[in-house]
Amino acid sequence: MDKCPSITRKRKGDKMEAFQHIRGNEDVKAYFTKVIKKNKLSHSYIFEGPYGVGKNTFALALAKYILCEAKEGNKPCNSCKSCYMTHAGTHPDLISIEKDTKVTKIETIRNNMVKEMDIKPYQSDYKVVIVKAADTITIEGQNAMLKTIEEPPSYGIIILVCENASRMLPTIKSRCIMVRFNPLTKKQLDTYLIDEPISESKREVLKKLSEGSIGKVKDILKDESFFELRDQAVNYLQRLDKADLIGVYDLVKEITEQKEEIEKILEHWLLWYRDIAIIKAVGIGDLYYSDYQQQLLDIAYKLTYNKVSQNIDCIIKALADMRQNIYSTFVIENLLLRLKERKK
Ligand SMILES: [Zn+2]
Repeated sequence: MDKCPSITRKRKGDKMEAFQHIRGNEDVKAYFTKVIKKNKLSHSYIFEGPYGVGKNTFALALAKYILCEAKEGNKPCNSCKSCYMTHAGTHPDLISIEKDTKVTKIETIRNNMVKEMDIKPYQSDYKVVIVKAADTITIEGQNAMLKTIEEPPSYGIIILVCENASRMLPTIKSRCIMVRFNPLTKKQLDTYLIDEPISESKREVLKKLSEGSIGKVKDILKDESFFELRDQAVNYLQRLDKADLIGVYDLVKEITEQKEEIEKILEHWLLWYRDIAIIKAVGIGDLYYSDYQQQLLDIAYKLTYNKVSQNIDCIIKALADMRQNIYSTFVIENLLLRLKERKK
């Protein structure tokens, strides 16, 4: 069995509490620390918040504490069998439900939540079910779990994790305690990024692009070509600006040859023109392309606000067309010609 990293890091006299290792959301941590102290855990929770801000990590930390066989005050011991198993994802009393495809089907809810909750815990005093992406459960699925949430067994704890609880039935919501997770502040992200071997300018860009989501930071850092493609996307626009008609068609060819990347390039362009719109409207603000500030200022000077907003509309339309599988050469050709049109 892999060694639990939190165990190897444990020091004598370490005062780490159950949620100390989780970044941000101090109010949520304080709330659960209090609830745990008073031994007043509820049977059903909804953890709601944007992508990548720590909802699932927190749910797992809470489950680890609940299932720990040798709790040390407010924190799990990190060394009992239960702690090992929770860490390894093999605890029989911890059920984690992922969405099936775009939705979570009624069968998944019936088999992995409703039926499981009827069976007593195998080795712990509790049984914890974490439903990820709970806002993708079909209406039938939500109705199927209603009774379990209304009358949970004494050992049952259900955590419904979602980005948007408004997609869930009011009957479900009214029976759960709603816990709201928020994006991390820039300062918290700074602390998180301190050990990342990246330049100061990239750090700033990452903070802006991630909008306080550690999940997004991780996604971007995992994508080795992210910053390269971003630079390339800007380079395409600079070349487009100077290109004659033949040059435009060369660009169309070059861009459409990068089949997998076309949508990403358009997304980079969208943020580029969004920055120019911000500069036109309010001056230099919180920019996605803070590392290209001078270039943005030069373009903002040349283009009218109408032309910038027209360009944004054209890119949004091109993205929608691409997602509807319209022939990409046609979409990009059309878009580049529109972007190239004289200012209005
Ligand atoms: Zn333990």
